[in-house]
Amino acid sequence: MEQKPKRIVVKVGSNVLTRADSMPNVTNMSALVDQVAQLMQTGHEVVLVSSGAVACGRGVMTRSLSLDAVAQRQLFSSIGQIRLINLYNQLFGAYGILVGQVLTQKENFASRDLYLNQRACMLTMLTAGVVPVVNENDTASLTELMFTDNDELSGLIATMLDADLLIILSNIDGIYTGAPSDPSSRLIASIAPGDDPSHYVVAAKSGFGRGGMGTKCNIARKVSAEGVGVIIARGDRPGVLLDLVNRPDSVPHTLFEPSPRSLTTIKRWIAHSTSFTKGTVRVGAHAAEVLRSDRAVSLLPVGVVGVSGTWDEGDLVAVEDFAGQPLAIGRAAMDSATVASLMGQHGQRPVIHYDYLYIEE
Ligand code: GLU
Repeated sequence: MEQKPKRIVVKVGSNVLTRADSMPNVTNMSALVDQVAQLMQTGHEVVLVSSGAVACGRGVMTRSLSLDAVAQRQLFSSIGQIRLINLYNQLFGAYGILVGQVLTQKENFASRDLYLNQRACMLTMLTAGVVPVVNENDTASLTELMFTDNDELSGLIATMLDADLLIILSNIDGIYTGAPSDPSSRLIASIAPGDDPSHYVVAAKSGFGRGGMGTKCNIARKVSAEGVGVIIARGDRPGVLLDLVNRPDSVPHTLFEPSPRSLTTIKRWIAHSTSFTKGTVRVGAHAAEVLRSDRAVSLLPVGVVGVSGTWDEGDLVAVEDFAGQPLAIGRAAMDSATVASLMGQHGQRPVIHYDYLYIEE
């Protein structure tokens, strides 16, 4: 990165924000707030995606109740979130910086209107010099519709806000060539666009958070493919944020280099909405080949060989090839019944216009 990133999304994991006994780790939080304040003083915009609500709530809830996992998450997050945000408010307040709480859910990324509304709100906060502190609304999220974890949420926020950089702070320096505890493992300094280091990732999850290095790696690949660089680093290293921004060579980390490809806001929204499609359009071999090429083409009824599911105009649909391999995702310009009635026909208007078609990598 030759140019210093201006807009930075910093995701901080539960393991950095809470101590082993589940109480807030005020030392780490205060060190991070100091650094965010310094970054802001030097012209950066910072968005914090902060986990730790559930862990923190668990630490302060002394009554033992027999609750299922969902009720527990809701209860703990409701208590923990308020403590965390209070702490952020106090710590940033010492610098005269205002913080604003953004609690969100996956559904807010599923509809274009909600997506753009949320985007506009956060851009207003940044313009007003307010630090958005973002977390999932764990009290209301449905289990089946939750973000995989806050790594996924931070990726969505970074691409939604056209961030220059996403920094994921965890309790590990980055991605290693083997188990981090194995002395022969080496930290991977940078990963070129398109490279997939997931075979190096040892399936282990540390401590309190929902995610692990596996999801961090997937999210980082996806986000960097959309043109936003992603850094994974250790959150409790003194000065880690300032060093990553000002002298990255001085601090251990893994950088997923951004790919030059840049998507429009609408395509970014579509790219992240794979779990919200209402149906599937299957295309023939020729259409699949054309869609996979670099050409900017729309999907036409002539290329369609099958339709499954029911959708209305404007809904998101998946596009797959004849073998059932995912090809693309897009916003349908006609409902499913119309597509079914026009499929195979020449000279018809597009099923999905190019501007609303995101071709899978
Ligand atoms: N939203 C959860 C919390 O605040 C964290 C999810 C995660 O671990 O990524 O506790």
